[in-house]
Amino acid sequence: MQVLLANEYGFCFGVERAVEMVEKAIGEGQTVRALGPLIHNEQEMQRLAHEGVTTINAPVQIQRNETAVIRAHGVTPEVQRELEEKAGSVVDATCPFVTRVQKLASRAAAEDRHVIVVGSPDHPEMIGVHGYAPNHAFVIRDESEIHTLPRLRRPLVVSQTTIKAKTFFDTADAIRAKTDDTVEVINTICSATRDRQEAARALAGMVDAFYIIGGRHSSNSVKLLAVCKEQCEKSFLIETEAEIDAFDLIGVEKVGVTAGASTPKWLIDKVVKHLEGLG
Ligand code: SF4
Repeated sequence: MQVLLANEYGFCFGVERAVEMVEKAIGEGQTVRALGPLIHNEQEMQRLAHEGVTTINAPVQIQRNETAVIRAHGVTPEVQRELEEKAGSVVDATCPFVTRVQKLASRAAAEDRHVIVVGSPDHPEMIGVHGYAPNHAFVIRDESEIHTLPRLRRPLVVSQTTIKAKTFFDTADAIRAKTDDTVEVINTICSATRDRQEAARALAGMVDAFYIIGGRHSSNSVKLLAVCKEQCEKSFLIETEAEIDAFDLIGVEKVGVTAGASTPKWLIDKVVKHLEGLG
């Protein structure tokens, strides 16, 4: 049995960078505490916990002798300030793609313009971005919510980094139709999710079975499963190699493997090795 990996899989750039920054701090002997779960993968969180990384829910929990970590989603400027005041040091692992959205929002607000961010208002990334333009920004999910917006002043329209391009552009069009003022639209969607889906789709048509490694609650992993199922009926979402049922692989000549953006390489390697052992 041949085991084939998709061209793009696993950790996205921002998550990989955040984990590397945390490991560097641990290596320097710091006591590391992340504000919110660093990564949506139980196995990787357990590994990091083993290395001494713990999670806090609010800046007030950090101590003077500890290092606070801002995860890839970023935080509001107030939260960042609070962490800087309370912690011994701060590791800012905000993904540069998210920093770009924060800066764009902040700049437009400084020019007294409205900022419309297309995304989920309760997502941590959106809470952080909103904090950069608190009196000027509105976060809306899609075009169905534009009736909630006030009369717009030279609006800037940007997006949460992980939303669908169609949702963003449809909403931007609806905003253009709503106002006579100049509308600036900047697509700030990151390609990591799309790249993983396209690579999985391309491979799924060539294999007899497909394993997607990722958390059952990880939305990008669940989407990868749906994409693979369209082309390959025997597609399975698994968290570890222990969930592979050899019975499913009877008669299978080629098996595809991909992984969600929060799945670490060591976990993927274990699954691939296990599959190769079964072949
Ligand atoms: S999905 Fe994109 S924006 Fe989000 S952390 Fe990964 S690389 Fe950064």
